[in-house]
Amino acid sequence: MDLIQQSFQRLYPNKPLNYITKLEYNLRLNDFNANIKLYKNILSINLNLQWKDIDDEIKIGLIQTLLIKIFKHKFHTHNIDLYNNFIRNIPILTKKNNIDPYLEQSFHRVNQQFFQNELEKPNLAWGQASFHKLAHYNFHNDTITVSTIFQKSSLPILDFLMYHELLHKHHQFRNHNGRNSFHTSQFRQDENLYPNKQQIEQEINDIIHLQKRSLRTIKPFSVWDFFK
Ligand SMILES: [Zn+2]
Repeated sequence: MDLIQQSFQRLYPNKPLNYITKLEYNLRLNDFNANIKLYKNILSINLNLQWKDIDDEIKIGLIQTLLIKIFKHKFHTHNIDLYNNFIRNIPILTKKNNIDPYLEQSFHRVNQQFFQNELEKPNLAWGQASFHKLAHYNFHNDTITVSTIFQKSSLPILDFLMYHELLHKHHQFRNHNGRNSFHTSQFRQDENLYPNKQQIEQEINDIIHLQKRSLRTIKPFSVWDFFK
């Protein structure tokens, strides 16, 4: 089932979709624009290439908005909410009710040093003692989560993880090249601005290695396998 069929089915659970569906990404439309066309038995939706990397649940909200427009119905769905929030810029709307004070200090340091204090504070939380997900930014709830294995790390290490995740927040709406990776070349360029980055990465590897060894596992790995 493609995204159009999925969007339709959630909107009209008991109705069959009697059209051939065509979903296309292209560069002809403006930023985050999209359009819908019904011609004979073909229902086609064009999305700006920027949409390609955006979460499916948000895209379903966008497609549902277009379907409702063409079928002239009035509907309100959870996905449409997600889409509207995305468009209005989720970080401004998200409730900040989950902010760890220690991570908050890290946020302020990084925001001042690298972002001219222009980034809005996300939720900041410790996750689990994960070796697989060192840190993570979830734009659905505007939350940065950091693995507790770094709770006792030096500030430059913690701030580097914070910087990496804040770059995701920063780049989230600026993915103009349609790449399927969150770690675009621009992202990597920005990330390289962090002082002593290579040494920090090595130290992170060491932390993981030590903690893993204390769990009696000795499998070697690269830190990049676990960055998300
Ligand atoms: Zn990342």
